[in-house]
Amino acid sequence: MDCATYRRLYPKYGKLPLPRKVWDTPEGEEHGDHFHDCNSCCDWTLGQRAVARGARVEDFPCVHIADRVTEKFDSTDADPFDDPDVIIWKFDHSGDYGIPIRDGGSSIVVIQYCPWCGVPLYKDR
Ligand SMILES: [Zn+2]
Ligand SMILES: [Zn+2]
Repeated sequence: MDCATYRRLYPKYGKLPLPRKVWDTPEGEEHGDHFHDCNSCCDWTLGQRAVARGARVEDFPCVHIADRVTEKFDSTDADPFDDPDVIIWKFDHSGDYGIPIRDGGSSIVVIQYCPWCGVPLYKDR
């Protein structure tokens, strides 16, 4: 499968959770394989997810951070210290990106670079 086909078929296969009868087909399998094999389409997909959540990818240093940080946009009661799904959080008061430490307190490990692609997270520091 090539990149153009992958992206054209994304509306069909990109909505999760996907019923087995949709992904368990030769085309569905090729689509999944392309996602894992193609960095460019993998990044593109993360961007699509963030946009679907109402975010702007340009507001984030890269698509990986955009995808992670927007994962909980839709749940108003998301507490980064309570929710093991939250890997990286943007702390609005400080503007820091960090990994919550779930020891009952509210400390974070502030990160400087994207763990996936290594871009610096703060342009103006
Ligand atoms: Zn591709
Ligand atoms: Zn990244």
